[in-house]
Amino acid sequence: MEVGTSEIENPSIDNFRRLDLTLKVQGLVDRKLSFPEVTQIKDVLTDDVYWFSSSFSQNNSSEDFVHYSTEVVVYLREIGENGLRDRLKNLNMDVAYTNQHVDKPLRTCTLHTDDSCIYWIKKGETSYKGLGHLKRDGGWLSFNDEKEAVVYKETSFPKYQLIDHC
Ligand SMILES: [Zn+2]
Repeated sequence: MEVGTSEIENPSIDNFRRLDLTLKVQGLVDRKLSFPEVTQIKDVLTDDVYWFSSSFSQNNSSEDFVHYSTEVVVYLREIGENGLRDRLKNLNMDVAYTNQHVDKPLRTCTLHTDDSCIYWIKKGETSYKGLGHLKRDGGWLSFNDEKEAVVYKETSFPKYQLIDHC
């Protein structure tokens, strides 16, 4: 990639900033997360501000470790740091943190939103319960937020009891 400063009048090093976007997650086997693509970052920042970037990602479904990292060099002249912050608000980066345990024999759907909850930590696939999908007796599902999880419960298991665990 070629980088030039020819289009900028009076370029000053003070107007450049390095932005590090990093997402590291460990221990989530059934994960649902989103990290912005370079094209999205470019769209959000606009061509005037986005200068160049380099990215790294490690997201192998057989490992319980995810690492995304993007380093962006931005040119702040017009918008300043507050303007940059405003634009960055439009970047979406998150990790699903609501898990729902569907128990068909008990007819319950249990929400776990605290990632230190022992039930969540110990969740796993069993013969009759799935991880990320449902089996005969139910299983564990991940959602982006509580609202999404509740909507799923109401739609798929309207007669089950909803338990807010943690
Ligand atoms: Zn819990």
